[in-house]
Amino acid sequence: MQHNLARARAGARGARVWAVVKANAYGHGLERAVRGFAEADGLALVEVDYAVRLRELGWTKPILLLEGFFDASDLPVMAHYGLNGSVHCEEQIALLEAAHLPRAIDVHLKMNTGMNRLGFTPQAVAAAYARLRAMPHIGTITLMTHFANADEAGATRLPLAQQMLRFEAGAASIGTSLPRSLCNSAGVLMHQLDSDWVRPGVMLYGGTPSGAPGGTSAQAFGLLPSMTLRSSIIGIQHIAAGEVVGYGSRYEAAGNIKVGVVACGYADGYPRHAPEGTPVLVDGVRTGLIGRVSMDMLMVDLTQVPGARVGSSVTLWGQGMPIDEVALAAGTIGYELMCALAPRVPVVEATQ
Ligand SMILES: *Cc1c(COP(=O)(O)O)cnc(C)c1O
Repeated sequence: MQHNLARARAGARGARVWAVVKANAYGHGLERAVRGFAEADGLALVEVDYAVRLRELGWTKPILLLEGFFDASDLPVMAHYGLNGSVHCEEQIALLEAAHLPRAIDVHLKMNTGMNRLGFTPQAVAAAYARLRAMPHIGTITLMTHFANADEAGATRLPLAQQMLRFEAGAASIGTSLPRSLCNSAGVLMHQLDSDWVRPGVMLYGGTPSGAPGGTSAQAFGLLPSMTLRSSIIGIQHIAAGEVVGYGSRYEAAGNIKVGVVACGYADGYPRHAPEGTPVLVDGVRTGLIGRVSMDMLMVDLTQVPGARVGSSVTLWGQGMPIDEVALAAGTIGYELMCALAPRVPVVEATQ
């Protein structure tokens, strides 16, 4: 996590770095994030209660709520704990106008530059700014937007350059120059943009933004996996041609094979929809998943790993088995795998 943060800083062109720690630091735990990202300029997340937890864990630098507050009762909490929040809609501005806060809060004013998720249009952003600026309990205002396709070099729909044109138009309409918060991981890794803040998330955990086939790998980006999901073989079956494996008997052996049973299933966060052949490392040898993933177990073909036995080590993703590759095979992205890591999985911190 420290290494990846340094990599993000190197790509940030002098911008300050919000380390994004939403979803329990992409499955890594807030306490670990506070230590791993001690050098970040701030931590950004979505959950108000987790933001409070970060303060309780001793984080004294800025904290940003990426979706801002959800209702009026969040506002005194933000003022009390010194939480910055994004402001993305009229309803939030109305709640702010109605509030009496003991301390000013800093905000990120969010502009919708074409993603059409959160934010004010470039036409509406100046009016939103004027209302915020008129409130005594609003401190600094930073202009923020989010890119839809920063990970796609030749995007035909809404390329980053188009979002930047709209951003510049909105920024110019405000009439005063505001600090900017722009890039996610893809922006940091693949674009040279100048801004005051960047907001990398997945890269800090050693994943790539798109994980697309043929895209630059995490390793080639200079990133290290921060999470390695390991287990071991707890049972072995030798089966003959025509025998089937697991629920639904999805897999049928074409010849004699050796089946390894791994103590890891969807209740641990391994994706149940992973198909036959999803790569798995057994004793450092690449093999593949067979049969349906069950709640507590999954099965692998050990035919290519003749030395494997009960107790052999298994790596589902992480060191030696890029999470992007597993995600691609399972039809998802590394983000989803990390975030889904279940609380029952014991976390062992590696010493370097
Ligand atoms: C999640 C999030 C990020 C981080 O995105 P990554 O692709 O993980 O780098 C940045 N900005 C906002 C607003 C987000 O919600």
